[in-house]
Amino acid sequence: MARRKKVYEGKAKILYEGPEPGTFVQYFKDDATAGNGAKKDVIDGKGVLNNRLSEFFMTGLNNIGVPTHFIKRLNMREQLIRQVEIIPLEVICRNFAAGSMAKRLGLEEGTALPRPIVEFCYKDDKLGDPLVPEEYVIAFGWATQQDLDDIVALALRVNDFLSGVMHGVGIKLVDFKIEVGRIWDGDYARLVVADEISPDSCRLWDIETGAKLDKDVFRRDLGSLADAYTEVARRLGVLPSNVTHRPKPTLIN
Ligand code: UDP
Repeated sequence: MARRKKVYEGKAKILYEGPEPGTFVQYFKDDATAGNGAKKDVIDGKGVLNNRLSEFFMTGLNNIGVPTHFIKRLNMREQLIRQVEIIPLEVICRNFAAGSMAKRLGLEEGTALPRPIVEFCYKDDKLGDPLVPEEYVIAFGWATQQDLDDIVALALRVNDFLSGVMHGVGIKLVDFKIEVGRIWDGDYARLVVADEISPDSCRLWDIETGAKLDKDVFRRDLGSLADAYTEVARRLGVLPSNVTHRPKPTLIN
């Protein structure tokens, strides 16, 4: 018999029913995907690192008054979260051009943007999460104008917090993605940061060397993803003492 009811399984995480109504348990898998699932692998220890890193960022946000779905970490791979109604948008905030923006506008990756730019993609794997203008979001009823104003304000606060924290450990926050959820309190909905914040959903470059410390290492075959994430966790002081990622033993003949 299953230990508990699975509510949803995504590419990198599983949601289970939580111990109390209004809660879920979020389980971090070791699976890595890129290009909307076109490239797949299992990266030993990634789930453990992302669980810790997401705990670290979400706790920091809660502490400075930016609401998130995070309640507490339960174990190496699981955290207790508030159940939210996910707004079907990937909210992307960019400080420097990279990835799809660099490509679309013909900008060199790393070009500083005149100010942080927040953009929205409609969450739909079959469509490849297309970039959508605010007009679409409002016209199709995915969020109201008021929600969008609040989401932009939330994303910019997350950006300032994450940029500062990362700068403190010699890392440049190039861009990141968050998801936002609604928590209903009677007729009133509060917007909170949901999903995860980890090197899977951020672009992180070493300030000195420019080395990539995020999922681009996997997307672009630049080396060991686990080593890159371990480096981020080590610098932030959140490396669990018994992290599962260790160099594989080599056979000596
Ligand atoms: N991102 C993400 N999930 C997605 C798409 C993007 O977490 O499904 C993050 C990505 O890691 C980067 C930022 O959002 O930090 C901007 O990604 P971009 O639009 O440049 O997309 P990509 O180049 O990855 O296709």
